[in-house]
Amino acid sequence: MKCDVLVIGAGAAGLMCSIEAARRGRSVIALEHGRKPGRKVLASGGGRSNFTNLNLSADNYLSENPDFPKSALAGFTPADIVQFLESRGVMFDDKGNGQLFLRGKSRDLMDLLLGECKDNGADIITGMKVKGVGKNSGRFTVNTDKGQFDADSMVVATGGLSCPELGATNLGYRIASQFGLRVTPLRPALVPFTFGPEELKRFSGLSGLSLKAGITYGKKSFRGDVLFTHKGLSGPAVLQASLYWTGGGVAIDLLPDIDIKGMFIHDRARSTEMRNYLSGHMPRRFALRWCELFSGSKPLRLYSAPELERAAEGLHNWTFRPSGTEGYRTAEVTAGGVDTRELSSRTMECRKVPGLFFAGEVVDVTGQLGGYNLHWAWASGCAAGKYA
Ligand SMILES: Cc1cc2nc3c(=O)[nH]c(=O)nc-3n(C[C@H](O)[C@H](O)[C@H](O)COP(=O)(O)OP(=O)(O)OC[C@H]3O[C@@H](n4cnc5c(N)ncnc54)[C@H](O)[C@@H]3O)c2cc1C
Repeated sequence: MKCDVLVIGAGAAGLMCSIEAARRGRSVIALEHGRKPGRKVLASGGGRSNFTNLNLSADNYLSENPDFPKSALAGFTPADIVQFLESRGVMFDDKGNGQLFLRGKSRDLMDLLLGECKDNGADIITGMKVKGVGKNSGRFTVNTDKGQFDADSMVVATGGLSCPELGATNLGYRIASQFGLRVTPLRPALVPFTFGPEELKRFSGLSGLSLKAGITYGKKSFRGDVLFTHKGLSGPAVLQASLYWTGGGVAIDLLPDIDIKGMFIHDRARSTEMRNYLSGHMPRRFALRWCELFSGSKPLRLYSAPELERAAEGLHNWTFRPSGTEGYRTAEVTAGGVDTRELSSRTMECRKVPGLFFAGEVVDVTGQLGGYNLHWAWASGCAAGKYA
């Protein structure tokens, strides 16, 4: 089958790219190996897709080339996706910090994307297996178990490696390597940290407990809930830190909203036991465990000044060394990808292979938690669709 644009992967970026290219009058075929397109979009935001973030800038993204996302993000802004949804009657809510979630289900968003593909004449072929790709006489060929496809341009939008059960494969990275493009190191991100054996003994009894904390790794700091699981730590602040984590310890402020050192100084004549005192500021179950492990528990007046200082330092600056992460099975995204220095930031086209484009998570641009990854998929898919 011949067409102008072949899109490999009918997820968020592939569908947006197909719509944009088809609107320009290009004949488009999107090839999807899953039986249904967009399974990650359907799963996103717990079924309500956190589809963008109003407070969005290139600073919300991790890439070896930090300026790269700017052009595509300027070409397709949160206001553009908002307008796209509003004009078609899809409602949404701001759940805080500019995070926009659908009011209904992710299915509404998928129906909208699929409807736009159909109305603009972009075909989506699902349930097919790509056997190989090539470029001959300036045209791209894709061999599949449903026959051979042939196109002027090929857009690779196969996403990252996380959640294989939702269709993730490494095809995009393999295509990049086949055409001589560098792929930066890949790792699971927006993913829970795991405890080593020692921490597991210390904290596994706290499974299910959540507390408000601050996490710092290198120059990045996040605030939010930290959740103890039976394997390690999760929750929004932990997932954010995992985007940047490449080993070593993270510093956790267990009492980010209070100056516990100042409070100890103020209250050091009191007879209140440490565990009861701390329970006034954090979940009791955690306070008890913390005292057992670190500070002991006796009336405050019996602690020496250095002991109180050490306790305060431990509470504001607990160094937690993850043994690793839960990996691609539970990661929301893959950090790393096709090296952006190989691509035009305006068009997403490869510099050394004209007609070959990459869009979405397969590219080395990874967003923080909060709607940034779907937005990158829309923006980079749209950029590729304008030129493919
Ligand atoms: C559980 C979960 C929840 C998430 N929630 C959010 C959220 O609320 N907000 C947010 O911004 N981000 C969220 N993300 C991340 C976001 O879903 C992705 O970053 C985004 O979908 C990436 O878009 P993409 O088009 O690049 O890849 P995908 O949406 O993953 O699409 C890639 C497509 O390519 C197909 N494909 C893969 N390999 C092949 C192959 N060999 N042959 C043919 N087709 C192939 C896949 O089946 C898939 O349909 C979430 C991720 C997960 C896993």
